[in-house]
Amino acid sequence: MFGVYDNKDGGGWNTTKDAYTSFVARPDRGKSAFFNNGGTAPRGSYQRGGFGGSGNSRWVEESRDDEDWSKPTQANERLEQELFAGGNTGINFDNYDDIPVEATGQNCPHHIDSFQDVEMGEIIMSNIALTRYTRPTPVQKYAIPIIKNKRDLMACAQTGSGKTAAFLLPVLSQIYTEGPGEALAAQKSGGQDNGKYGRRKQYPLALVLAPTRELALQIYEEARKFAYRSRVRPCVVYGGADIGQQIRDLERGCHLLVATPGRLVDMMERGKIGLDYCNYLVLDEADRMLDMGFEPQIRRIVEQDTMPPKGIRQTMMFSATFPKEIQILARDFLEEYIFLAVGRVGSTSENITQKVVWVEDGDKRSFLLDLLNATGKNSLTLVFVETKKGADALEDFLYREGYACTSIHGDRSQRDREEALHQFRSGRCPILVATAVAARGLDISNVKHVINFDLPSDIEEYVHRIGRTGRVGNLGLATSFFNDKNGNITKDLLDILVEAKQEVPSWLESLAYEHQHKSNTRGRSKSNIWV
Ligand code: ADP
Ligand code: MG
Repeated sequence: MFGVYDNKDGGGWNTTKDAYTSFVARPDRGKSAFFNNGGTAPRGSYQRGGFGGSGNSRWVEESRDDEDWSKPTQANERLEQELFAGGNTGINFDNYDDIPVEATGQNCPHHIDSFQDVEMGEIIMSNIALTRYTRPTPVQKYAIPIIKNKRDLMACAQTGSGKTAAFLLPVLSQIYTEGPGEALAAQKSGGQDNGKYGRRKQYPLALVLAPTRELALQIYEEARKFAYRSRVRPCVVYGGADIGQQIRDLERGCHLLVATPGRLVDMMERGKIGLDYCNYLVLDEADRMLDMGFEPQIRRIVEQDTMPPKGIRQTMMFSATFPKEIQILARDFLEEYIFLAVGRVGSTSENITQKVVWVEDGDKRSFLLDLLNATGKNSLTLVFVETKKGADALEDFLYREGYACTSIHGDRSQRDREEALHQFRSGRCPILVATAVAARGLDISNVKHVINFDLPSDIEEYVHRIGRTGRVGNLGLATSFFNDKNGNITKDLLDILVEAKQEVPSWLESLAYEHQHKSNTRGRSKSNIWV
């Protein structure tokens, strides 16, 4: 997936050209569509007047606007290969069917059991077939009909449960049914002011906000799959990469935009993006975005600009946890929403075997080597450390010990991070040393073993980290090094282990007991644990 970003000429942006060309550069269709129009005026040029008669090319272009967005455009074998070659790691879904799902809210639409149970149109259905998704995951079963019924949604579901497709499928399906509407006219008049090609302000129909560039890229790649053979052109913008290139890519058309909040604000302030017609808003990993301090930018984007207000636009929020701050955001952004909880929020899947071992700081490295040797050379292992320095040091150490490893953390450049991820995924470097921020939300499939070389100080972070293994029904292993420094997580860790029916070391139990007696006056807020 990330391989496409490695090409040197143009940083990968040019790879999207195929997607665009496949539905835009098709003069054969344009003309006939216009002449077959049966006397109906093409939207746009007649209404606005002014440049309608300026030449044939304009007419051809205008006439294409009237094409039916719900009909697939021509297949493109090369692009199809590129998009769908990856295949799926999602197996063993049977384990997932037992996961309890609770939907609350007025008139909640009924869930579906198969993708065929809901009308999503030709384009979506054939792309689902191409991705080889045979049936919906639990969050998809519930979220798809809710979104298709134009309801706002707050969904809590564990990592790896298939949240991305849960919002992309119904949102894209709606866009295909409804077509571009007014956004198209706005687009054109924006272009008129600014000269012939380029410099047009783009008016995306849907916006997906995500916390990190890696996650934004993943959502974008998934969107490209489901936008295949459609007239929707997905784009992605994120910080830390050349903004000029991103602007040029936007100028080629942008109907669905995936963005990190900071970069999007920048694009809006440069007049490159207008959210006036953005009728679908998705906040993915909302809890993480707040943790990273994005709330002001998110409010700036959603509340203080030109985006249609709640009730007019449709809004979907996804989060692994549901702490107070997310509840407030949901109250402010959503209208009569359905609350969907899949599994227990804050809990971990039973597909993951969790081990906690007592290891003093000085023994961590040799203990790690033992684990790595036991895991086997070719299975992917993700090692979490607390600090960027710690990540570099551990990577050096492992390298000197002869292990093929790499690292991702906040101090590494965008290119280095993408390269590291690629090397890890492809198995060239089957050990990845990571800090939490850098690794959050990444869909790294096939991770066999997650090792908490340093445990985090809060339990939500722990849940996210170990969610990197045991993805979509696969079995995984998570080992955590625990010592005196991790006292603050004791009680929550114990609860999580018990709940996921894991073996609990007796020392952890007695520590938790002691800890509770020492601090029973100031317990941590439990508002984020649902039920
Ligand atoms: P989440 O956002 O909940 O962490 P993702 O949306 O990243 O999960 O999905 C995890 C993995 O599962 C991805 O590789 C995705 O392609 C795959 N997947 C999602 N839905 C299905 C499905 N219905 N069938 C098979 N695989 C799926
Ligand atoms: Mg996700």
